[in-house]
Formats: sequence, structure tokens, C-alpha cells
Amino acid sequence: MNRTRSEQLFAEALKYIPGGVNSPVRAFRAVGGQPFFVNRASGAKIWDVDGNELLDYVGTWGPAILGHAHPKIIAAVKAAADHGTSFGIPNPLEVTMAKLICERVPAVKKIRMTSSGTEACMSAIRLARGFTRRDKIIKFDGCYHGHADSLLVRAGSGALTFGNPDSAGVPPAFTQHTIVLPYNDEDAVTACFAANPNQIAGIIVEPVPGNAGLYLPQPGYLEFLGEITRAHGALLIFDEVMTGFRLARGGAQERFHITPDLSTFGKVIGGGLPVGAFGGRAEIMDCLAPLGPVYQAGTLSGNPLAMAAGLANLAELEASDAYAKLEKLGEQLAAGMRDAAKSAGVPVQVNACGSMFCTYFTSAPVHNVADAMKSDRERFKKFFHGMLDAGFYFAPSQFEAGFISTAHAPADIEKTVAAAAKILRGL
Ligand SMILES: *Cc1c(COP(=O)(O)O)cnc(C)c1O
Repeated sequence: MNRTRSEQLFAEALKYIPGGVNSPVRAFRAVGGQPFFVNRASGAKIWDVDGNELLDYVGTWGPAILGHAHPKIIAAVKAAADHGTSFGIPNPLEVTMAKLICERVPAVKKIRMTSSGTEACMSAIRLARGFTRRDKIIKFDGCYHGHADSLLVRAGSGALTFGNPDSAGVPPAFTQHTIVLPYNDEDAVTACFAANPNQIAGIIVEPVPGNAGLYLPQPGYLEFLGEITRAHGALLIFDEVMTGFRLARGGAQERFHITPDLSTFGKVIGGGLPVGAFGGRAEIMDCLAPLGPVYQAGTLSGNPLAMAAGLANLAELEASDAYAKLEKLGEQLAAGMRDAAKSAGVPVQVNACGSMFCTYFTSAPVHNVADAMKSDRERFKKFFHGMLDAGFYFAPSQFEAGFISTAHAPADIEKTVAAAAKILRGL
């Protein structure tokens, strides 16, 4: 595969952009080699600047649930742009979007838009703290909630230790109220509430964690989180930036029948434009400025182009019976990958939920980040590059989920599985 133009662009990018990229995973550090540059995408396919065609399982990390450059989204953005790109005063599309989210996600009674998932999660945490008048929050090791200071922490040494910052530039004082626990471990949460009476504002959790690969909640685990937060006057915050409007019409909370107090969204609700949102119970949301004492704002929040793209995405998902289709495609891919690995004699765990999936190279089931760490990353690298060279783009890290879109045809999945079988046999 000729990548001359990508190589030239990357050399140029390295001079002016740190690491040559505007978000670290794009640099391919986890898999080695260099990123390719894309200047065109349509349906399930992307084309790099050297003209190579790739079948895409990254889907711009989730938003492209209908595939790339869906004609209805493009038309909606063009129509909105004709009327102006930003007004800085309420616009009608914001109301349509808020109403639509509230209708599809019954736990959300009021919602506020942001420009990224990071902002949505940061604001939801501030709101939970302001509403409960408590400082501490629980997050889970391996769950990603954007790069706000107090959320950029993984586990400390013991289950009950306070978090250590995950990044230089985050003073430990900024994360001292963030408690990090292992996912899928009820006892750790119970012990934490016992050790911190009346101090925990809430739990933030990805209901189906997709930022350390992909693993599922054990049966009853999400219900347990709902019960224990309720019992202790703390809030349950579902970070559905990735799962919202992807795992079901009403997100993971619909799929697993849970009613969180607050929810955050992003990705799919922006249709590929920069968007986030957080919403939930009305009495909590009404603590936000200008009604209440919790400050939160954004120059471009509710941006008309982003609202138009998101509304077109959500409307088309509804109109096209997308979720049933995505379920089938997801099952086809997971079953195919399992068969391919079995016939190749390579131990893998194919974790899947709807249109999200991850292949770990280990013989043991993966239920949390500690399990995920056991995956043979050398094998993953070889698998990744083998697939890429064969024309299939999977996420360039073992610790990212893959995404299927409605633009993927069953024949595409078949081709993918056949290519994977060949590469797995060579591992
Ligand atoms: C992507 C993601 C975020 C961050 O969203 P950005 O738009 O990248 O800031 C937060 N939480 C989850 C679960 C995500 O997948």
C-alpha cells in the first residue's frame, strides 16, 4: 500500500502540531508505524490521501453510526450553514434537540448542550457536587470521561485509595476527591460508601465501558449502582457519550433498564460535529446557572450546525430501523471473529454489545481493565497492521472499541471476517 502522501503530511504535521496529531491515539503509538491522512469518507469507507480505500470500523470514534457523509446529515448542515454558523443567542434547533433527547431518554427531563463530551462530564460532576453539597466522586478504573482534571485518574494502589493524577499538570489536590474503584466489583463500592459516610456526591460510570477495549456489566451490576447511590443520597451518572443513541434508541440505560440521575452524551448526537450534552432529573438540572448556583457556560453550546447534524442523525436512526440492523451486523461480526480465531487456534475474547466490539488476545474472559491488560498486545499490533494492509481499519489501540455503522453490509462483515481469519492464522 503506497502511503507516500500521508508520510509527507505527517512529517510536515510533526513540525507544527505536537506529535503531529490533535488527539494522541491518532498518532499510532500503541501499534507502531505512522497514521494515514484521510480526506474523503462515504458510507462504511474512508480514503486516505494516497487514494487507498479502507473499510472503516472506527467511525470517527462513534458518531458515524449511519456511516460517513450521510446525505441527510450533509444536506442538514449545508442548509443550516446558509443561515449562519453561530448566533450566541437561543436558536430554534436547540429546543428541538432538547425535546427529542428528553423524549427518547425518559430519565432526562432537562438537558443542556456543550461542545464536547469532556465538557459534558466535567459539568455533570460539578452539578452532582453542587446539588448534593458533597465533594467526593467515585469513578472506575479504565472508564474514560474526557480529560477534565478531576476525572483524569485511574486506580491507586488499593481499592480505597484516593486517585493519583494520570497526567502531568494535574495537581494531586485536584484529584483528591476522586475515588477510583475496579469496575464490576460490588464489594469495592459497598466498602467505599461505608468508609466515606455522607461524603460521596455520586458515581460516574460508562454503563458499557468502551475506553479500555470493551467489556460488559455483569448481570445486576448497574442495578446495584442505582440502589447503592439511592440508599446513600448520592447520584448515579451514566456517561453515555459513547453508548447514547448507539446501544439502543434510548442508549445503554434503555438496553439495561436503568434510570440514572444524570446522563452525559456526545458523539452520535452531534452526527460528526463537535457536541456534548448532560441532562437528568429536573430538580438537579435546575441548580444550573442562571436558575441555580452551579456555573456552566459555552460560547458555541447549542451551535446551529451541530444541532442540525445531530438532529438529522437521530431522525434517520429512527426512520431507518437502524438498531435492529446494527444488532444483526454486530452479532455477525462477533460470531465470525470467534470462528476465525478458533479455526486459527489463537486464544481471543471477542466482547461485543450491539454495534460495539473488541477483540482481546487472551484466553481469559475480560470484565474489567485488569483483565484487559492481560491481552497480548504484540499480537494485537500484528493483527492491526495485517488488517490495515488488507484494507480494514480497526482502532489503532488494543484499548479502544470498534464501531459498526448501518452503512456496513453483511457482505462487508463477511469480507472482514475472512481477512481476519487469514491474519489470525499467521500470528
Ligand atoms: C469520547 C468520550 C468522552 C469524551 O468526549 P470528547 O467529545 O472527546 O470530549 C467522554 N466519555 C466517554 C465515555 C467517551 O467515550
